[in-house]
Amino acid sequence: MFKAILFVLLTTLLVAGYFLYQRYAAGMQRSGRVLAWLRNANAHPDWQMKAGQRCGSAPFVFPTDGFVGYLWDDSFRPGHRHQGIDIFGGEQPGVTPVVVAYPGYLTRLPDWKSSLIIRIPADPLEPGRQIWTYYTHMADSEGNSFISPEFPTGTHDVYVEAGTLLGYQGNYSGDPFNPTGIHLHFSIVKDDHGRFANELDFHNTLDPSPYLGLPLNARINTNQIPVCPPVQDAP
Ligand SMILES: [Zn+2]
Repeated sequence: MFKAILFVLLTTLLVAGYFLYQRYAAGMQRSGRVLAWLRNANAHPDWQMKAGQRCGSAPFVFPTDGFVGYLWDDSFRPGHRHQGIDIFGGEQPGVTPVVVAYPGYLTRLPDWKSSLIIRIPADPLEPGRQIWTYYTHMADSEGNSFISPEFPTGTHDVYVEAGTLLGYQGNYSGDPFNPTGIHLHFSIVKDDHGRFANELDFHNTLDPSPYLGLPLNARINTNQIPVCPPVQDAP
């Protein structure tokens, strides 16, 4: 009996250890690529996605130019789960354009320096529900906004078409002495009785993979660079 319990315990530990190690290794590999990209983006043209690009018949177009360095459900520290994707333009703050991925109604709260959120009344993949798309880090390290003047703070529920220019990638983190790398954080947020749910909670977000037609789930994609699959010739 004791031996059987010990066996189950050891097997569980081994399996858990294996998965933890896999996640750790995948995270290390992605960080290595982000550094390589930021050092010299021109050396990796095949890692780049383009603003407005659509993969196959995916409902969303890609929201900015750059390399998808971190995926949905990546982990930056123990217990952390990344709610969206991080797209690194490889340029200076305020240069890389950010566009609307899918049409909807744009809101920017009065205190949002670098963020905006777009309400999509009918989820294209599950039309019975409303979802939201969240775009952030569109300001410099001091909090000077790179969001288009068309969408000032306090903008509420204004209709925008796919491809509309929203602003430019920045590195705003809230702390001028510790800015983030220059990127766009993009996430799909669940609805909570007509309001957007708290984006900071991973469980309130959706896997963006099927919306963008890209392998963006960190648990499934351990080492693949997320770019559109090559177009197949008709048989
Ligand atoms: Zn992020």
